Amino acid sequence: MKPDHLPPARPDLAEILAQVHDHVRPLIGQGKVASYIPRLASVPIDRFGMAIATLDGELFATGDADELFSIQSISKVFTLTLALEALGGDLWKRVGREPSGNPFNSLVQLERERGIPRNPLINAGAHVIADVILSSSATAREDLLGFVRDRADNPAIIMDEDVAQSERDAGFRNCALVNFIRSFHNLDNDVERVLDFYFHQCALQMNCMDLARAFLYLANRGVCQRSGVPVIKADRARRINALMMTCGTYDASGEFAFRVGLPAKSGVGGGIVAVVPNAMSVVVWSPGLDDKGNSLAGAAALERFSELTGFSVF
Ligand code: GLU
Repeated sequence: MKPDHLPPARPDLAEILAQVHDHVRPLIGQGKVASYIPRLASVPIDRFGMAIATLDGELFATGDADELFSIQSISKVFTLTLALEALGGDLWKRVGREPSGNPFNSLVQLERERGIPRNPLINAGAHVIADVILSSSATAREDLLGFVRDRADNPAIIMDEDVAQSERDAGFRNCALVNFIRSFHNLDNDVERVLDFYFHQCALQMNCMDLARAFLYLANRGVCQRSGVPVIKADRARRINALMMTCGTYDASGEFAFRVGLPAKSGVGGGIVAVVPNAMSVVVWSPGLDDKGNSLAGAAALERFSELTGFSVF
């Protein structure tokens, strides 16, 4: 008989994915696609994909896990990683670490807080992060693309120019934010360069399997699971996970921690990435969003995943 002090065997992840997919079927197609970016308005709402990459090198997937989508704000985790490597702890003089409690593209807090964004995972914070990366490299966009391709082990990943242009055409609020931050002297580069970099990071096109592999370094104390080479220091990986937990799912981050209990980052393309520290990364994509901008079926899928597996940092 198995002694009860041993940790439970890892659940059958293929079976868990099948059960999660069945559970969320009635929710797929509900919510609204992000129509404020015209190019995203035409994404079929009835899609659902989910993938898990484990630190043992296994990959599990269900549904439309190999269909490409616009990762949007999920890219903010990659750029935060690069900016932390570039600037170290000085980064926190320019951007805070508190949840905003406001919509991701809000301007109101910035006025009161004199151009220091609340955290790196809202748009204002991501603009400052973009500025840091631009100041540290003459090839910032190529560096980011190379970093993401390396993490995902997929050299075919691209930034979708049509999506980037569509965001530029409709990007009045991002333009306002960048100019506003600049007026508080928290931006060194030309506003057009910052916006161009930001719109291209959001336009990164990946599928659930790419993203699951790409996020493994955050489940693995900052170390690349394939090569064993450090991507980022362990304490920085821990901090990024903390920020994902507290700020990663818009102004629903408290609710998300309550329901799922894993560090996560969502994007208005309908993707959500979650990290199970020391074990795996879990990615879900379904384009129908709830009123906070998180994938409706995706959030339900992660909630069911954590219920079925017991995986949670709490
Ligand atoms: N590119 C989007 C914007 O700036 C990103 C939003 C998101 O995914 O949170 O509005």
